[in-house]
Amino acid sequence: SKVPSITLNNGIEMPQLGFGVWQVPNDEAERAVATAMEAGYRSIDTAAIYENEEGTGRAIAASGIPREDIFVTTKLWNSDQGYDSALRALDASLGRLGLEYVDLYLIHWPTPERGKYVETYKALEKLYSEGRARAIGVSNFLPEHLDRLAAETSVVPAVNQIELHPHLQQHAAREYHAKRGIATEAWSPLGQGKGLLKVPAIVAIAQKHNRTPAQIVLRWHLQQGNIVIPKSVTPSRIRENIEVFDFRLDDEDLAAISALNEDRRLGPDPATFNLA
Ligand code: NAD
Repeated sequence: SKVPSITLNNGIEMPQLGFGVWQVPNDEAERAVATAMEAGYRSIDTAAIYENEEGTGRAIAASGIPREDIFVTTKLWNSDQGYDSALRALDASLGRLGLEYVDLYLIHWPTPERGKYVETYKALEKLYSEGRARAIGVSNFLPEHLDRLAAETSVVPAVNQIELHPHLQQHAAREYHAKRGIATEAWSPLGQGKGLLKVPAIVAIAQKHNRTPAQIVLRWHLQQGNIVIPKSVTPSRIRENIEVFDFRLDDEDLAAISALNEDRRLGPDPATFNLA
């Protein structure tokens, strides 16, 4: 594949760029994932709450690509937190995906008010030991939540998937993850395609390299070492977003993008987010 891999802390290889399917209805997800596989993507990021695991699974089956060449991530929803319910939740996800195992299983949000993410993570450790997930990790965990896992569980999360883009660069979290061997995966890597792709500094760098703003932002992530999962349902954009391995940003470009940090979230604050 044209996409390089990141070696996770348990030795598993994860493509550094994958395809996200948040807010894509089941049937459309099937088409979009099929287009992505044809374009060369081999990593797909879904979640139980996205209600498109079935469509994603159908596209994977229809692709004809060997299962071991595809990296599938799904996530456990908040209402399934708890030891037994987490075990059942992965069963249900695997049933919808039509798979025997996932490559990465994540706790979607810590929902600290619930007080259940430690026991939930212990269920993920069991699923990992059984080979139903080749790697386990978390999403939207703050350092305080990771500290509790470190104190009370034994498998270091392979990944923390967090909101990360040039307006929210997450320097402290990235440093914390690096120290503990946790890979940083960026959700909404394009800033949800909103104002970010029109920022003059990014447009200027795009013109300089004869690329699109989305490609510049993805290239910035890759050169930082982030795992990225851009989403699109538009075939030309799906293809464009993976054509980012044949050029490099120089130090001046990287510095200009680093100057765009505003510590500004588009999504909820993990300390308080608790939607059922
Ligand atoms: P994103 O940053 O990937 O932006 C996607 C949007 O950007 C598209 O809907 C489109 O409007 C636009 N876009 C995409 N490609 C473009 C291009 N080449 N040119 C111009 N515009 C383009 O946003 P996202 O979907 O929020 O995040 C990506 C993935 O991250 C999701 O699909 C999901 O898999 C994951 N995610 C996870 C969480 C979590 O809590 N763990 C939260 C949000 C998203």
